[in-house]
Amino acid sequence: MDFRYIHLYSDALIDSKTIAKEMAKIFPGCKTDVRSAFKHDDRIERARVADTKQPFERQPKQLNGMVPLYDGFVLQRIFAEMIPAAETDHVHIIFTSLLTCTFSEDDWRYHARAVVCGTPSIISTKGIVEAPAKPREFYLAQLGGMGDVGSIKKRFAGRFIDYGYDRMTAAAIVYTLQALFFFVTDGEPFCEDKSCRLYNAHWQEELIHAVEKGAFCARHRWMANKFNNKRSGKRSF
Ligand SMILES: [Zn+2]
Repeated sequence: MDFRYIHLYSDALIDSKTIAKEMAKIFPGCKTDVRSAFKHDDRIERARVADTKQPFERQPKQLNGMVPLYDGFVLQRIFAEMIPAAETDHVHIIFTSLLTCTFSEDDWRYHARAVVCGTPSIISTKGIVEAPAKPREFYLAQLGGMGDVGSIKKRFAGRFIDYGYDRMTAAAIVYTLQALFFFVTDGEPFCEDKSCRLYNAHWQEELIHAVEKGAFCARHRWMANKFNNKRSGKRSF
């Protein structure tokens, strides 16, 4: 997709305007706007996951008192039906507090996801906090009953992103870039370089590192430049 329009749909847990400004800096040839929260209806309930150890086709019908989880790809298809037909070739990035997850056939279970790339892209603000793992010692302290969650969180403060406007916004910028590079790179947005903003962080500490670096590796900087030159009509040799 040779995108020209980027629409960001706000969520209360992040500052979408700051994200839009950052995107305008990186992709100055694109028109980025901020819209109010993406309006969806009860259809999203079709994407609910109750049993994290069964693929979507085998989900039980009963949903009893679970933390609501949504299959990211099913949710993506439902959201796609709600996008105006005239805008199907635009990039839509939906920030949502719905917790998205995707099923992995490697270990036969669902994993929480912060970003589901595609049309539309979904960035789960809850997923930013819940998907990348906290430090191993955090879970060991929890298992060992070394205090309540609040005091354990305090002990590991700074080593994971918790609910808080500024830090979640900074992390959402990283995921927004991954959603955009999904199109720039034809579906391979992630980077191997831990200091690149496109690094696919499995740990909160890796995510924080990428957020704090706030830069691309040389290859992805080159790709962004190439994309921008094409957009502005300049020829690159
Ligand atoms: Zn990179």
